[in-house]
Amino acid sequence: MSKTSAYAAVSSKSPLAPHSIERREPGAHEVLIDILYCGVCHSDIHQVRDEWGGSIFPMVPGHEIVGKVVKVGDMVGKWKEGDTVGVGCFVDSCRKCEACKDGEEQFCDEGMTATYNGYERDGKTPTYGGYSTRITVNEDYVLRIPAGMPLERVAPLLCAGITTYSPLNHFGVKPGASVAIVGLGGLGHMGVKIAKAMGAKVTVVSHSSSKRNDALSLGADDFIATLDENAFTENAKRFDFILDTVSAKHDYNSYLNMLRRNGRMVLIGIPEPTVISAVPLIFQRRSLSGTLIGGIRETQEMLDFCSQHGVLSDVEVIPIQKINEAYERVLKSDVHYRFVIDIASLKS
Ligand code: NAP
Ligand code: ZN
Ligand code: ZN
Repeated sequence: MSKTSAYAAVSSKSPLAPHSIERREPGAHEVLIDILYCGVCHSDIHQVRDEWGGSIFPMVPGHEIVGKVVKVGDMVGKWKEGDTVGVGCFVDSCRKCEACKDGEEQFCDEGMTATYNGYERDGKTPTYGGYSTRITVNEDYVLRIPAGMPLERVAPLLCAGITTYSPLNHFGVKPGASVAIVGLGGLGHMGVKIAKAMGAKVTVVSHSSSKRNDALSLGADDFIATLDENAFTENAKRFDFILDTVSAKHDYNSYLNMLRRNGRMVLIGIPEPTVISAVPLIFQRRSLSGTLIGGIRETQEMLDFCSQHGVLSDVEVIPIQKINEAYERVLKSDVHYRFVIDIASLKS
């Protein structure tokens, strides 16, 4: 065990503050990672503020981790000291259920071991995330970062990247498909870039009219401001696929009406529950789905895809001392388009 610097929230009402945690020496199949960068996901805020219930405190958030392997366990075959690696939203799972065997560990029957705000497989040791200087992880739950990618711009791929890649990939969005990305934040801006790289025609649907130019420079072909009261009627039956990344409560039914016949809307944002009517689904035979991050295999595939297509996150790098300010800005939709913590600020 060794003392490790971190930032933690001690309750749902307290700001993040300096904190010390213990990290274990790597076991036979584990690696110790020196963390370089960690992205700031809106899920960090939901959980720190206990908006989903059941939060475990003290909480060290962070599940968009990039760093270097500094020590490997005796039996580790996949990694060596000096490798550049990533850790995403989970660090273990049961490995024997159908989902785990299929490489979709995020749907593990026994529950994945979340990178933070969870417990190790023993059911009692709390997990702590990437707002810390190092982490010990089983070798099978570590991702390879392709050479040459700027690491601060890669960190957000570990959650925002895979969470948007997975639905686009799983539901087979084809080149030329008309795709709407609802909400231009951390997930949304990755959705735009990944859908474009897959050859889709992409429209950003936003409640912030000021984001039009940003949307277009991120690669979107079109922009719809939902504050315009005619937006929903004017764009009815327009899209093959809608990816909804919005973090706050909104009316899904009006967005469903923007789908064409047989179109699909996938929810990835996790706001408070909203009532969904059967009517927009029945008319035009539309589908509504949801997806949760992605498995290890698909996350590696996404990293390789992003490397091949030059897809990276647009980031604002901050020292960890600015984390509470960053949270306030995320809540005001004032993020361009992902805050990433330079963990060097926690080491000095
Ligand atoms: P984010 O950076 O804060 O982006 C959310 C965007 O939602 C905002 O930028 C804003 O875009 C839009 N929005 C915010 N308030 C709104 C409102 N009142 N009405 C309409 N639109 C609003 O957050 P994020 O990190 O991308 O995360 C988005 C959501 O996905 C969160 O709920 C997070 O917990 C969830 N999430 C889910 C998964 C999964 O596996 N399914 C994984 C990671 C995160 P505009 O200004 O463009 O409207
Ligand atoms: Zn996340
Ligand atoms: Zn399992």
